[in-house]
Amino acid sequence: MAGGPVPQAPDAQALAAAAVGAGPAGTGPAGTRPAGTGPAGAAHVNAALPSLALYVDGAWSPAADGATYETCDPASGRAWATVAAAGAADVDRAVRAARAALDGPWSRVLAMDRARVLWRIAALVDRDRELLARIESRDNGKLLRETRGELDLIVRYFEYFAGVCQTTLGHTMPATGPQFTYTRREPVGVVGAIVPWNSPLNMLAWKLAPALAGGNAVVLKPADETPVTALVFARMIEELELPPGVFNVVPGLGGVAGAAVVEHPGVDKIAFTGSTATGRLIAERAAATLKPATFELGGKSPNIVFADADLDVAVHRSAYGIFSAAGQSCMAASRTLVQRDVREEFEARMAERAARIRVGDPFSERSQVGAQTSLRQLEKIASYVEIGAGEGAAVLTGGAPPSDAGDGWFFRPTVLGGVRNDMRVAREEIFGPVTVVIEFSDEEEAIRLANDSPYGLAAAVWTQDVRRAHRVAHRLQAGTVWINNYRLWNWLMPFGGYKQSGYGREHGLQVMEHYTQTKSVFVDLQDAPADWFAD
Ligand code: NAD
Repeated sequence: MAGGPVPQAPDAQALAAAAVGAGPAGTGPAGTRPAGTGPAGAAHVNAALPSLALYVDGAWSPAADGATYETCDPASGRAWATVAAAGAADVDRAVRAARAALDGPWSRVLAMDRARVLWRIAALVDRDRELLARIESRDNGKLLRETRGELDLIVRYFEYFAGVCQTTLGHTMPATGPQFTYTRREPVGVVGAIVPWNSPLNMLAWKLAPALAGGNAVVLKPADETPVTALVFARMIEELELPPGVFNVVPGLGGVAGAAVVEHPGVDKIAFTGSTATGRLIAERAAATLKPATFELGGKSPNIVFADADLDVAVHRSAYGIFSAAGQSCMAASRTLVQRDVREEFEARMAERAARIRVGDPFSERSQVGAQTSLRQLEKIASYVEIGAGEGAAVLTGGAPPSDAGDGWFFRPTVLGGVRNDMRVAREEIFGPVTVVIEFSDEEEAIRLANDSPYGLAAAVWTQDVRRAHRVAHRLQAGTVWINNYRLWNWLMPFGGYKQSGYGREHGLQVMEHYTQTKSVFVDLQDAPADWFAD
């Protein structure tokens, strides 16, 4: 509970212009902490910070119990906004509002009109892209250059799903008698969308666009660490005057607001992106109400470099594969497998490339890697470097924050050499700018090592032999394989994990399987069907 200013709808202009270092240094373990506790737990309410409300049933309100928490600017390590923290009562209100929209006005909006809604969302994102990118970089720590790029893709994403609205079709089926039989694709209902902090607006788009295309209503739980852009987005699309309850945002802590979404009997489907550990917990809890759920989870993606690869390109694209987004990417090239003949040369060139990367202020044109999103994450990355060193890995470059990091949560691009695939740093997701280099002798060993992981999100193959490229791609247990590049994606290509990287697919037409349910309708064409019980 906290005193202080009453949470309000966000003012995007003011948030985008927010000065760096507006609040006290953040100490919370997750980059957040309850409002009302200062750095040393002293009573403290920073009335200077913007205070943001929940968005439920088309209106802005504080949490029912008045709870709030602070979200931090990772580049300064300081609190920069206070956000209402939803509890079970708020989630319940959001779910009821979503259901009322589905049972009422939203159900009467035809697919062609939902298409217009999605087009208009795309146009609003396009109009406000700079504001959204700035706020995203402030809350998440990613380079402005990166968040601007993401906003470009988010516009395209909503545009694509505007088209999908009218191409999600049922079928007529060959009848086995004098019948007319067909299927309808109907909404699943209330979608509980729970997303992580590494690409908050992207993740919002990946859930909201197909959900609206399918005619569903959404209760979105943004990540604890990055709640701001989802609220700004909700404020922006208020211009469309959608029926209240079609889109709700319930920021708050995972174990409280997230758990309430998962457990609510009125939620018909969970769409989750986050860690494998949380995904497992959610799968168990969702089973209690038999909710269908889709999971986009963690990764430890193998990036396989054969001796015949173009090493210049392999080095700089591998560096992009692991160090872009400050390494906070589910598909990051975090396990680099290099063939024996070129391993030493690759390691040296990769370490040299990584050492030259400029880490710093997400808003500076000079920076090439931004901040880690939370202090907890920063500490986790540092601890994995220690674990690796303890296991016998060599820190070839990086391994620590830059000397000029100040209170910001920065970490230097790091390459660990001399790693074996059974070490913890090769098996566990670090989710930071750290790659490990593992040597292999031949194609069979490369495939064996690549597949020897609990994860299966993505993989890459570097070779100039086209037959080998495809041969290896076909045998890798991964939802996405890149040949001679890394981290490509587009909204048409299904994306998702094998093994413990999740189940279900996002993007393309395939995602609509998860956001619609199929009804079979039988029409008997006989005037007088036979009476089964006739004498
Ligand atoms: P996380 O699992 O800690 O949190 C994700 C979301 O789940 C947050 O909104 C959090 O509040 C919520 N949550 C936490 N506990 C919960 C509970 N008990 N019940 C319901 N919700 C709960 O993940 P994170 O640290 O925010 O994100 C990083 C992880 O996300 C990494 O593992 C990364 O690989 C993964 N990720 C995967 C993809 C993908 O598409 N496969 C994309 C991005 C991130």
